[in-house]
Amino acid sequence: MDRIDLYSLTEEELIDFFISLGEPKFRAKQVFPKLHEGVAISEMTSLSKALRERLADITLDTLPRVEKKLVSKIDGTVKYLFRLHDGECIESVFMRYKHGNTLCISSQVGCLMGCKFCASTLGGKVRDLLPSELLGQVIAANLDTGERVSNIVMMGIGEPLDNFDNVVRFLKLVNHPSGLNIGYRHISLSTCGVVPGIYKLAEIDLPITLSISLHASNDEKRTSIMPVNKRWHIDELLKACVDYYKVTGRRISFEYTLIAGKNDTAEDARELAALLRGAFRGTGAPIHVNLIRVNEVEETEFTEGTVDSANAFAARLESFGMVATVRRRLGADINAACGQLRRAAGAQASEGKVE
Ligand code: SAH
Repeated sequence: MDRIDLYSLTEEELIDFFISLGEPKFRAKQVFPKLHEGVAISEMTSLSKALRERLADITLDTLPRVEKKLVSKIDGTVKYLFRLHDGECIESVFMRYKHGNTLCISSQVGCLMGCKFCASTLGGKVRDLLPSELLGQVIAANLDTGERVSNIVMMGIGEPLDNFDNVVRFLKLVNHPSGLNIGYRHISLSTCGVVPGIYKLAEIDLPITLSISLHASNDEKRTSIMPVNKRWHIDELLKACVDYYKVTGRRISFEYTLIAGKNDTAEDARELAALLRGAFRGTGAPIHVNLIRVNEVEETEFTEGTVDSANAFAARLESFGMVATVRRRLGADINAACGQLRRAAGAQASEGKVE
């Protein structure tokens, strides 16, 4: 019999599970919040020893374990390398902001999307993360820091919309009032542009913030750095974004990684502003462009520009009526770009990339 992954179960499913063991319904009500607090079954003293032993026999412990931890001396940002129950590794980053603690979580082991500047996708995708492993990153960070994660960004390793069902289950779990109770408005999901996933997300209408990794203002350039653009062109992507806004009323932010000499000229800024203003004309949607200087990855040829040139790009966007910010770099001294810790840990992935 397959072991039961308790952390992936909703409260209702946990009730059914305990009933199937011949236990009363209230066991689930006791256990659900404790699991999400990170209390191990063996430490749940409100359960009889016999029940704890039985649970240990039939359940799978999917909580990520801290394999390695880098703490920034500058701002306290913590970068975790987590080891999963099957030996695979993922990364999460814990950041302190004035408005609360934000955890950047991974959604897959590796990634299939093949963005040319990204370290996470170099070895392809190994597997999707389970809902419990998505939630487990938050539980493990809360436990390790002794603080509370209040905001989540899905911007770590992987493409969340390529793991749609598990991600949606996770969102509902982490939002549950008896669990970690993190509001949907405190959660952002970032996608490279998996268009059917954007429509599906709009359909279920959770008030999370959608971030689109755009990174280029025309198809030729975008396709040259993001293979996903061959599958869904910019116009289809922006059409899905407009639909998302119309259905959910939630603002959309666009991520734009500045790569020196590739997409950071004054003409790129003009074209980007025209593209976004054109796509959202008449919708009243507030649009935000987040500029990030590319993190240089050893295996790629891309280089970062200066802070001044990033500021100039932002100013040019603003001169065309856009709202743009240059993302502050937290943890500059532990600045391994997304996916690099995992690669350094020797995790090997085998599967191919999307073309
Ligand atoms: N797959 C999702 C989420 C993970 S990547 C997505 O593509 O949005 C999170 C963000 O980091 C994306 O905007 C991605 O394009 C960006 N990113 C990846 N590698 C980067 C690098 N080397 N430098 C700067 N940003 C990078």
